[in-house]
Order: sequence, then C-alpha cells, then structure tokens
Amino acid sequence: MRSISIFGATGSIGENTFDLIVRAGGADTFRTVALTGGRNVARLAEMARVLRAEIAVCADETCLPALRDALAGTGTLVAAGDAAIAEAADRPATWVMSAIVGAAGLVPGLRALRHGSTLALANKESLVTAGPLLMATAAQHGARILPVDSEHSAIFQGLVGEDIASVERIILTASGGALRDWPLEALAAATVTEALAHPNWAMGQRITIDSASMFNKALEVIETREYFGVRPDQIEVIIHPESLIHSMVGFRDGAIMAHMGAADMRHPIGYALNWPDRAHIPVARLDLAQISTLTFRAPDLARYPALRLCREVMATRGLAGAAFNAAKEVALNHFLGGGIGFMDMAGVVEDTLAGLSSDMRLHSDVLSLDDIIGADHLARIRAGEAACALAARRP
Ligand code: NAD
Ligand code: MG
Repeated sequence: MRSISIFGATGSIGENTFDLIVRAGGADTFRTVALTGGRNVARLAEMARVLRAEIAVCADETCLPALRDALAGTGTLVAAGDAAIAEAADRPATWVMSAIVGAAGLVPGLRALRHGSTLALANKESLVTAGPLLMATAAQHGARILPVDSEHSAIFQGLVGEDIASVERIILTASGGALRDWPLEALAAATVTEALAHPNWAMGQRITIDSASMFNKALEVIETREYFGVRPDQIEVIIHPESLIHSMVGFRDGAIMAHMGAADMRHPIGYALNWPDRAHIPVARLDLAQISTLTFRAPDLARYPALRLCREVMATRGLAGAAFNAAKEVALNHFLGGGIGFMDMAGVVEDTLAGLSSDMRLHSDVLSLDDIIGADHLARIRAGEAACALAARRP
C-alpha cells in the first residue's frame, strides 16, 4: 500500500488532493500517515477519520484540545504547533503533498525530502526562498520533487522525453488576475474583495490576491528558474485570459509544446499523484469548437511591477528570493488588513529589497537553512516598517 501525507490538507490544494485520494479508494488504497491544517480543526478531523490518518496536526496550538476531542477514540494521534508539523514530516511516507501556504511550507518539505519521499510541491514559496537547498536536499537523498503548480506541471509534461539543452524558452501563461482589465490609475484604490474576484481559478485567498498583483507569476518565474535550471532570459510571461494553455516550452527547432486543459488543479495534482502513469481524473474535457478562440497579450510592467522585481531577484540570487517572498507575504498581510493599498504591495517589496541589498549576504550561493530563515526574518521586519511608513502617508 502506498503511504501518503498531506501538509496543508484543509486548504484549496489540500481539499483537491483529498478529493482525488478518496476517489482513488481512500483508506482502502492508501495508508495516510500525516494530515496537517492551520485552525480548521473540524475539517482536519473529518479528513483524518475518512482516511484513518496516523496523525493529525494543527498549526495553531490553541486548537489542540478541540482536535483531541474531535478525534477521541479513533486511534489517530494529535499534535499542534510548527515543531509538530515538522516532526510529522519525519514520519516516512512515499508521497507527500506540500500545500501549506507561504514560507511555513519550507521546513516540512525539506524534512520529507530527507526521508527520500516524493514531494508533490504546490508550495512554490519553498523554491523561491530556498531553491538550491531544496534541489540539493532532494539529490542528496534520492528524493524526487514533482511540480504541482499548474504552469510547472505543464512545463514538466512538455519536457517528458526531451533534452533540457534543446529548450530555447519557457513561456509562462498568466490569467492577469481579477483586475487585468481595470484602468491603470484605478488600481491603487482596488479593494480586497475586488482583487479576490479571480476570473478562472478557485484558489486560496492569498494566491488569488497574488494573481491580481502578478506576485504569483513573479514567484513562478523564479520557481521555473530554480526547478528547471534555465536562465532567467529564457523565461517569458504572457497574459492568456482564457487560462486554457497552462504554459509552453519552446525548443531550438522552433517548435512550441503547449499544455492545455480545464482550469482545475486536480489535473496537476493528479498527474503528480499518478506519475509516471496517467490515471482517469474527473476534470472537465475541453470542447475546442465551443471555445473557438485563444488570446494572448504582453503584460504591462507598469501595471505589474512584481514582474520587474523578480528579474532583480534572479540577478542577485543568494538570499534575495527569501527576502522577496517574505516581504511579499508581509505586504499582502498589510493589504488584507486594510493598512496599505493594492499598488503599495510592490512598493513595500521594492523598499525592502533595496534596504537589505547592502547588509545581507545576498550574493552567497551556498545557503544554509539558518541563513534563509535569518533573511526571511530580517525582510519581514523591514517590510513591516516599510508598510507602516506607507500606511502613515495614506490620506
Ligand atoms: P490555502 O490558504 O487554501 O491553504 C493553505 C493550507 O495551509 C491550509 O491547510 C492552512 O490551514 C495551512 N496553513 C496556513 N498557514 C499555515 C502555517 N503558518 N503553518 C502551517 N499550516 C498553515 O492555500 P492554497 O491556495 O491551497 O495554496 C497552498 C499552496 O499551493 C501555496 O503555496 C500556493 O501558492 C500553492 N498553489 C495553490 C494553487 C491553488 O489553486 N490554490 C495553485 C498553485 C499553487
Ligand atoms: Mg500557478
């Protein structure tokens, strides 16, 4: 029996993963080792009962008594807190879904790789903050990382049987997010609710806002560089409002392989779950005659400063990815809290990177987890200061 764990089981990716596991036979087909969540104890406990998980862990320690009550008599162990989530990753499982949102996903993913698990990686933040460390850890322990981000799954599938040396360019598609058709001058006043109205994808709250600002695409550009090892100048971004082509690989003979399918994360999750096989996945089938047209347009960098900032991060390398991601997470928190405006998020990240460029070992290429966590903490402090300064200047 295959053993699995899901980190971030109660989120959007976690729910889709749970759905596929249940459809594939649930506890009769898989031995579930660990399920983790944040605060939604009722849902976590329900999932643990259905899959007869060995351990269920919630991030919020105050939720532990409720989790214990909800799973009393089931035989599922319970625990809480960041350390307990990391320890849950030390329980060996063959296939581990990394679907915690944010930098908090890094340590459990690294621990799973150290046990040689196949890591289905939705948590792109770990590659952005610690790409070289993550890839080296996988290589050292004979573990495999399978991309779950729809773009990276598409690229991965486009590269099956190909030599990476024959790749000329990688074209990441972007929906453009909820505000893509707004006039540029209106963006500064966009509210959280408006930025959450994503045209094509149903996702967690944070990544949905990051789609509107294209910080999500900026993270994905860096993710592409770290995962596939291509040069930054080989990575392009194109707005494709229909979200039916999930990304493309261009080869040196001029061919472009495009990956198409419904905008449903169960496809890339299911591909990673069944890899190298393909199994039946219950996503909608495309009716091309009905769709009739696919459109593309170049992104405007004035509208999406994140796309410019990610280029600076890739040029700097070292700890810049950790600082970029941490500053972005803080800026997003301040936008969600109403303290800063939509376009201020990029300002916070830019100020943070500029402020740290002189006093961090940004250029070092050999990075330890301690260095990365240190840069993340420092960037969070600086970004908090930058956000408060911007908030104070708001009318
Ligand atoms: P989500 O917010 O819906 O779920 C996140 C999960 O992580 C939840 O289980 C939550 O309880 C848990 N969590 C949150 N903070 C935590 C913390 N500090 N410690 C431990 N657990 C914590 O997010 P999502 O949309 O499912 O995204 C998960 C990851 O997948 C992100 O890295 C995101 O960028 C990536 N991703 C998501 C999608 C998508 O369609 N949702 C697509 C591509 C990539
Ligand atoms: Mg994506």
